[in-house]
Amino acid sequence: MDTIVHFTLQGGAVRGLLIDATETAREAQKLQGSSAVAAAALGRGLTAAAMLASMLKDQKSTVTLTIDGDGPLKKIVCVGGLSGGADVAVRGYVQNHAVQLPLKDGKLDIGGGVGRHGRLSVVKDLRLKTPYIGQVKLISGEIAADLAYYYVQSEQTPSLVSLGVIASDVGVSSAGGVLLQAMPGCDDAMIDKLELMSPIFGDIANELLHDSIEALLERWFAGLEAERLETRELRYECGCSRARMERALIALGEEELKSMITDDVDGAELVCHFCSKKYQFTTQDLLRLLNRRH
Ligand SMILES: [Zn+2]
Repeated sequence: MDTIVHFTLQGGAVRGLLIDATETAREAQKLQGSSAVAAAALGRGLTAAAMLASMLKDQKSTVTLTIDGDGPLKKIVCVGGLSGGADVAVRGYVQNHAVQLPLKDGKLDIGGGVGRHGRLSVVKDLRLKTPYIGQVKLISGEIAADLAYYYVQSEQTPSLVSLGVIASDVGVSSAGGVLLQAMPGCDDAMIDKLELMSPIFGDIANELLHDSIEALLERWFAGLEAERLETRELRYECGCSRARMERALIALGEEELKSMITDDVDGAELVCHFCSKKYQFTTQDLLRLLNRRH
């Protein structure tokens, strides 16, 4: 079972999250049959979405993280929300999940897969009239630094983000992340200290191979008045349904539906991006959906 630990340092001067997303990233790769680099990029994206979602207040709110770079993986979309009490559920996909790339300095080249140019956007549907939208340029393509830049630029919160995934073409060994945010009144010495520690946090995927996040919380932040506030469960959950697929078909518009009805192929097959489940629609089904539009 994956977990998210919420904690503070020095009486609330810093708030933090430690996330073990190993099972979540593993499930995503299993469902989508991703290559190592795609699984690692998605594992980072899902952990980042879990960070964003775990900060939501309302059960029905959702957050969508999109990383749209100029690299061969193309778009990465991750969605998160609270599900059943304080639990966090995420889902996501990589547009081009079969990409193979040579290792860079012995590591999966996620920055090369994502690309150095592009955008990271966060859309929070907080059940208000209009969703909150924040967007920044990619600064590294490695996702962690890009998310930290988003927190500073769009949410005006100085943040340190680390994300790590160990993956091969056949499985995910570990995935996790660290988020540290300076609250108003946090002194510079504390920020300097945490920045010096950031290479350690960057190694979280290796650490999770032999330690729990509770153990890391104790070991890393000893002497910094770490206080654990809450532990939440994290899981991969698609939640697709035939009704949702019908809505997606209707949203394609009249022209698109008509061309699906009149083309040579009988009916249509939709594949869920998030879990690879297939949904079949006959020409009769499509006609019914077309009529429902009016
Ligand atoms: Zn699905």
